[in-house]
Amino acid sequence: MNYEPVIGLEVHVQLSTKTKIFCGCSTNFGASPNTQTCPVCLGLPGVLPVLNKDVVQRAIETALATNCNVVERCIFHRKNYFYPDLPKGYQISQYDMPLGENGWIQIKLDGKVKKIRITRVHMEEDAGKLIHSENSEDLRSRVDLNRAGVPLLEIVSEPDISSPEEAYQYLVSLKQILEYLEISDCNMEEGSLRCDANISIRSVGESGLGTKAELKNMNSFKGVQKALEYEIIRQEKLLGKGEKVVQETRLWNTDLNRTESMRSKEEAHDYRYFPEPDLVNIIVDKEWVSKTRRSLPELPQARRDRLKNEYGLSDYDVEVLTMDKRVADYFEECSKYFPNCKMIANWITGDVLAVSKDRKISINDLNVSPKQLGELLGLIENGTISGKIAKDVFQDMVCTGKDAKQVVSEKGLVQLSDERELVSIIDKIIKQNPKPVNDFRSGKQNALGFLVGQIMKETKGKANPQVVNRILKSKLS
Ligand SMILES: [Zn+2]
Repeated sequence: MNYEPVIGLEVHVQLSTKTKIFCGCSTNFGASPNTQTCPVCLGLPGVLPVLNKDVVQRAIETALATNCNVVERCIFHRKNYFYPDLPKGYQISQYDMPLGENGWIQIKLDGKVKKIRITRVHMEEDAGKLIHSENSEDLRSRVDLNRAGVPLLEIVSEPDISSPEEAYQYLVSLKQILEYLEISDCNMEEGSLRCDANISIRSVGESGLGTKAELKNMNSFKGVQKALEYEIIRQEKLLGKGEKVVQETRLWNTDLNRTESMRSKEEAHDYRYFPEPDLVNIIVDKEWVSKTRRSLPELPQARRDRLKNEYGLSDYDVEVLTMDKRVADYFEECSKYFPNCKMIANWITGDVLAVSKDRKISINDLNVSPKQLGELLGLIENGTISGKIAKDVFQDMVCTGKDAKQVVSEKGLVQLSDERELVSIIDKIIKQNPKPVNDFRSGKQNALGFLVGQIMKETKGKANPQVVNRILKSKLS
């Protein structure tokens, strides 16, 4: 029997508003436990939540950027459940009247474009966090409520995703949109972006849905992909043996690379949703929506199209440059100081991103501004230094923050293009290497490379390679 997977993803993204969704506490990550709390987010009796308008604003932006319809009136519901990180005993969330509905985003896989429909975008509050001691002498768990009340958006897809690779691409595309909107830092390690997956399988050609499992606890996009791959095989084996898939929540175990049963999946009615009586309806008038639509930043697809047309870059360059908005910004800023855009793109997709990846820092924290990179490229273009030396100069700039010109003059790296000086060095190398010289003359082309290498070594890499090649060829012919 041939099976096909049916996958839907739920993404939770923490909004980078200054304050929490229903109180004035800070949302900063990393503060000492329980220092960013107040009676409202602690869930003490008698307090009243007040909605942070900025949360609604960012939710509208996200709904529009994912092509959702923004409803004119929506409300909050209470989702009742007990957990030690939820002192109120309920989470304020949205239920059957979410802010945004019926959207879609585009993904690209192996050159093919596919639309994944978005069911809903809704607002809710985050819960606190349990910190489990890893010390076997002191097996206690502690509660940190700094996160309680931090605003979240939940973005739910339709089950339109048909493979783990598509799931991965969906997450990459969605994260890109969220980053371009600047509504979240989307840092998975700090939990500001989380993803749960619903997956079932069915016989190829069948239109009904199989019983699904919900997967949790994946802390990277690759983790989501791997968990789905594992789960497809697990469900195929069950059905192959004539057994049934149980509807349940399963946790991804990163160490063992497998999903493990956590609990049977609860249904919506288990939560006893009811309208939150302490909050008024949210009215989003048309003017607010159209004003927000006008103020949306350029989104990833639009930027890819523009970079391609405006700068004549290849699909590959455009793809890499727009992956992170900051990189695309860096590229465009650099192009103000240096006219050869293809060369800028080569440098950014090569050396610049390699260093930023290596040091695990963003391009903005590299110590080399777009202007400084433009000046470095200018020195290659006008023949002051070779492209090879420029790579070393760039590394120096990253370490010291100095300008290219300063590094070049301090280290005496100016390219040697003076013909008279080069001729005497070339004569010397020819004299010292009779065998390669004869080899070249008898037709072995790669002997030339060896001789050029010797000249580069003699000049510590400073000789102008074009001039060296020209002189050497004319001397040998
Ligand atoms: Zn608070």
